[in-house]
Amino acid sequence: MKCRICGKPAVIKLRAHNIALCPEHFVEFVQKQTAKAIKHYKMFEKEDHIAVAVSGGKDSLALLDILTELGYKVSAFYIDLGIKHMDYSKTSKEKAQAFCEKKGVKCLVYSLPEMFGMGIDEAARKSRRTPCSLCGMTKRYLMNVAARDLEADVIATGHNLDDQAAALFANLMRWDVSYLAKGYPVLPAEHGFPKKVKPLVFLTEREIAAYAIVRGIDYVRYECPHSEGARFLVYKEHLNAIENMSPGTKRRFYQGYTENIWRFQIESPDQCEKKDEEESPMKPCKICGMPTAAEDGICSFCRFWRPDEVKKIKGQE
Ligand SMILES: [Zn+2]
Ligand SMILES: [Zn+2]
Repeated sequence: MKCRICGKPAVIKLRAHNIALCPEHFVEFVQKQTAKAIKHYKMFEKEDHIAVAVSGGKDSLALLDILTELGYKVSAFYIDLGIKHMDYSKTSKEKAQAFCEKKGVKCLVYSLPEMFGMGIDEAARKSRRTPCSLCGMTKRYLMNVAARDLEADVIATGHNLDDQAAALFANLMRWDVSYLAKGYPVLPAEHGFPKKVKPLVFLTEREIAAYAIVRGIDYVRYECPHSEGARFLVYKEHLNAIENMSPGTKRRFYQGYTENIWRFQIESPDQCEKKDEEESPMKPCKICGMPTAAEDGICSFCRFWRPDEVKKIKGQE
């Protein structure tokens, strides 16, 4: 197997693209695919400041590597959820910080155990919420805080083609139209929240894993048991079986959807009716100042994580 470009021994065969590549040209391929997605979906420009959400896993660290190699202005942040199982949070934080240091990228850390004295599992147990719903809300909030603290124009996450295609597959199977309307790799800035983008949407999990190995990126191999990656595992396996049969299907499936997403964004009559009732104006949270639509002016993060301050405010009212 020889590299299509230079003829040297190839390290990877990309059936969807009908090519084999040597390490050097594979790295170039991955960086070019990322640049293509950034341009195709108008994610950001060269002068923008990008905040990368690093988890210590291969996708987010590869993303940080690619964006810095492409010459973008990048900062990073790590959210420490305090997951003790197999030392997940401790190890992933160390890997994320070490890689940022190696790349000369500033990395802010937001630690739940340091801020609130407990991690996500303990908090979920105490409140009898599922870790996933609590984790989603907490991460979304802290991502917005990080972008504000870093004065970044846009937040970039390491979701890859497999993640996006599997989520699309799952949402189609359920005909979850509200999610199908929101699966675009770019979410515009709104209500005072920053723009969010997924620059790795043209790259598969296998390609990113290979990139991380070729580039010598040291990442956590063990995935958080609550992660999206784990949630859509069955859908990923089925998509991979189809991909094996017909290379390139995954990319056509997801990219075709992004071209047709407007079909899911047309509101049905009952959605329009609901909208009038639901939409209350955004205002700054009385405790933290982040935008919230909650009627009592306390955001869902503060309501959960800062109960003492909520009590104080309620007492004054
Ligand atoms: Zn080559
Ligand atoms: Zn708040």
